[in-house]
Amino acid sequence: MSQPTSSSAGPVVALRDVHKSFGSLKVLDGVSFEVARGEVLAIIGRSGSGKSTALRCIDRLETIESGEITVCGHRVSDPKLPLRALRLDVGIVFQSYNLFPHLTIEENICLAPVTVKGRRRAEARETARRVLGQVGLGDKLDSYPEQLSGGQQQRAAIARSLAMEPQVMLFDEVTSALDPELTGEVLRVIEQLAAGGMTMVMVTHEMGFARRVADRIVFMHRGKVWETGPATILEAPETAELRQFVGSGL
Ligand code: ADP
Ligand code: MG
Repeated sequence: MSQPTSSSAGPVVALRDVHKSFGSLKVLDGVSFEVARGEVLAIIGRSGSGKSTALRCIDRLETIESGEITVCGHRVSDPKLPLRALRLDVGIVFQSYNLFPHLTIEENICLAPVTVKGRRRAEARETARRVLGQVGLGDKLDSYPEQLSGGQQQRAAIARSLAMEPQVMLFDEVTSALDPELTGEVLRVIEQLAAGGMTMVMVTHEMGFARRVADRIVFMHRGKVWETGPATILEAPETAELRQFVGSGL
């Protein structure tokens, strides 16, 4: 089996001049950014600016037309890349949690480690307990998804990703489907992961959260990285577009 080469120096995620269209619609227009090991990158921008597409390209849920993407040493832009090896290194969590309703939380979390990684069931259960503890759901092993709140289900979805021990985690607006009173508990979990050194790329509209947690911000506009830098760019935007975006409170 191909081993990740991510222990070597260099960025964990690198996009170079990535172009992507849907039909005649140019969605990524020369996007480049890098994420170093242990770094947290927040992608912000208006709806339709290409944030989700950029994130999905990292996990090859979308293919690109030109440019180069490498993730944990895998050449994602190579059409012959074995996806299994890539997906073992990348965890992705979406707005919708997609837990299996007929499985308990523990079974949900054990599924991929057992079926994909060939872990023994006892070992997978051990891991499930650990990751559920990490997201504050140590007492929900035997619950079914429907017995959990939206915030708890999203935390379980994060735990499910963590159980695969990814090198990098991708989050796409993971709190946007939640009632405001439930977003905090999910953001706290992500913040703890960041503090623990997890490499992360997160698309978020939670600007306060991005400011606090992100090492670097990418502001996307019309399929381009319009502005990028440390969180301080939100205080002093150089472009009118970022100034307007920050000012709009979105
Ligand atoms: P964001 O996440 O910033 O809101 P997206 O990356 O989801 O933006 O979408 C960028 C643009 O691409 C939007 O205009 C969207 O409608 C379009 N788009 C996204 N996915 C598809 C698809 N599978 N087919 C056609 N158009 C798409
Ligand atoms: Mg999106």
